[in-house]
Amino acid sequence: MKTHLLESLVIHPESEHSDAPLKHFRLEVDADHWAWITFDMAGSSANVWNTTTLREFNHCLDHVVHDSSVKGLFIRSAKDKVFIAGADLKTLRSSAARKLEELIDLGQATFNRLASMKMPKIALIHGACVGGGLELTLACDARIASDSDYTRLGLPETQIGLIPAWGGSTRLPKLLGLPKALDLILTGKLLKPSEAKRVGLVSAVAPREHLETVAKKMMSEVEHEMPVARFRDRLFAPFIASKARSVLHHKMRGLYAAPFRALEVVRRAPFTSMAKAMELEKHAILDLALTPETERLIDFFFRKEDASKKPWPTGVALTVHDVTVIGAGVMGSGIAHWIATRGNKVLMQDISTESLGKGIERIKGLLDEGLKRRAITKQNLRDTMDRIIPEHERVPLNHQQLVIEAATESMGVKKKIFADLAARASNDTILATNTSALSVRELAETVPHPERVIGLHFFNPVHRMPLVEIITTPHTSDDVIATMVSFVQRLGKVPVVVSDSPGFIVNRILVPYLMEAVHLHESGVPAELIDEAMLDYGMPMGPMRLLDEIGLDVAAHVGRTLDEAFPGRFAKTSMIHDMISQGKLGKKTGEGFYTYPDKHSHHTSFSEADHHLMERVRERLGGLIGEEARRISEEGIARSNEDIELAMTLGTGFPVLRPLLSPSMH
Ligand code: NAD
Repeated sequence: MKTHLLESLVIHPESEHSDAPLKHFRLEVDADHWAWITFDMAGSSANVWNTTTLREFNHCLDHVVHDSSVKGLFIRSAKDKVFIAGADLKTLRSSAARKLEELIDLGQATFNRLASMKMPKIALIHGACVGGGLELTLACDARIASDSDYTRLGLPETQIGLIPAWGGSTRLPKLLGLPKALDLILTGKLLKPSEAKRVGLVSAVAPREHLETVAKKMMSEVEHEMPVARFRDRLFAPFIASKARSVLHHKMRGLYAAPFRALEVVRRAPFTSMAKAMELEKHAILDLALTPETERLIDFFFRKEDASKKPWPTGVALTVHDVTVIGAGVMGSGIAHWIATRGNKVLMQDISTESLGKGIERIKGLLDEGLKRRAITKQNLRDTMDRIIPEHERVPLNHQQLVIEAATESMGVKKKIFADLAARASNDTILATNTSALSVRELAETVPHPERVIGLHFFNPVHRMPLVEIITTPHTSDDVIATMVSFVQRLGKVPVVVSDSPGFIVNRILVPYLMEAVHLHESGVPAELIDEAMLDYGMPMGPMRLLDEIGLDVAAHVGRTLDEAFPGRFAKTSMIHDMISQGKLGKKTGEGFYTYPDKHSHHTSFSEADHHLMERVRERLGGLIGEEARRISEEGIARSNEDIELAMTLGTGFPVLRPLLSPSMH
């Protein structure tokens, strides 16, 4: 509590309107007669909604409405990283239908009550404000957000098989208009504060320590009024909805029900009464919540959360601040960029000054894009660039905690680099390689203290791909693993720890799949048909287009490494090599299986015979993915079957709803 609120009148929760003391909230009324509700869930670093917290919030509202001197209400959180993280998913998952219905009713009634209170209400948002957290703020008259990196706003319900059902599906379109609301709800994306300001979700962004001042100033300007639907939305809703539906069909195929259901509810928001809209939201979520699909999506959400947060069970994790990256190519510059955006200093080394220059240009390009989207400020851009030092000379590295090697994929080149690094760095500098498929153990055994050698396999493009495979050898120490798990988590990525073996998890599964796709193409199946078949299967991109994106030279190289490791196992094709010798390397050379720039407009219509063929392609390629996953499971390379699925989904977009393996016995 700030000093100027100290003289405020603290309403004791035991007063006439409440029978129990407040455990999760604080309620104060200051000298200016503004009420402040602060959410501070007991015994937790996050605030979440469940029956207890919703009831207690209602008690707070009781006090506010019964105090006739109160002129307006501020709502905020006392937590460092979270405003409100939404509904308590653990309770939600374990609830029976009747309990779930009660929870939905309680949330709707609470937020409707807040919305109709005849005084201005402002939410001061610092930290994650998602799902039911954002729905609370939508029932307020204005929202301001802190400019912190912890602050994110969104309605991600459709991503876990649900829809926003505490008024969010109805209030968001009124606030932002139908197109922007649909974009947020159907993709479930989370916005940074500056992006939230740009779309109109918050009215102001300010440093956390200034939120109160800004909010108080704003209070005199905010009027309580019930939002109404926009005229344009009423007019164009059918058109907007049908466009959104066809995008959904194209992206989701038949696999996911929640976005379609959300679309049906959101599109009716401009036309229905609040009471009717609440019914629609409730029916939709009750239909969805208890299906096996939603259960699986929520399980996956928890697995990802665990992997993003849980420390490695053994060893001591040190905090890494400064990093050296060797190689300023596609991956080296991508990794350097990402590490620097998270506040760490990076020394980026390359033997070629030209590559260094290009690497820096690539990083500047990524930051410029962020600036254009207003995801970062000019100051962020300058600070990030300042943290990256390009270096061509063999400078000493003995003060460095971590070196990540991302140079050319060749065992000879990497061994030379590692010998040089061992000479330049101290004995406990962690030496990591970003190799795609080479043996990390072989590399480790060429340097003194192999216990500090590990693989950190980032995916391309680094700023988009959430997965990092952490590759351990029999020599790697637990302290080094623990330190790398924590480092990757601090970068905001998801680590999956895997034992050294050719191709680790993701490339090991991708190679036979991609080689077989080329083999099918070589034997006459059109690239578009193969891609369409796998889009239908649920992959975000077909294998032929994926090969064009990766680059045929890069793919062939990884393919060769795996072919040597598992001779005779993969489909043989000469096609890739012919294409490489003709300079057709994929998107980067303007031609591969497709020609570029292409506008994705060549939608071919398929005949019935084509559809039969697609079915066979799906069976063949999908079958290969499952087969290789089972081999990895049997060989014990991954820690669990769940880890294999996690790596495949985060590394390739493999559909969560397709069970790849049966659950591991724990
Ligand atoms: P790249 O060809 O774009 O870059 C390699 C860079 O390494 C070049 O700039 C080169 O000048 C530099 N280099 C070569 N020898 C060096 C040395 N002795 N010291 C310092 N720099 C040196 O390659 P890339 O695509 O960035 O791949 C780098 C590594 O990352 C490879 O091991 C690759 O297998 C792996 N990887 C690539 C991808 C991908 O999709 N491109 C994905 C994951 C992992």
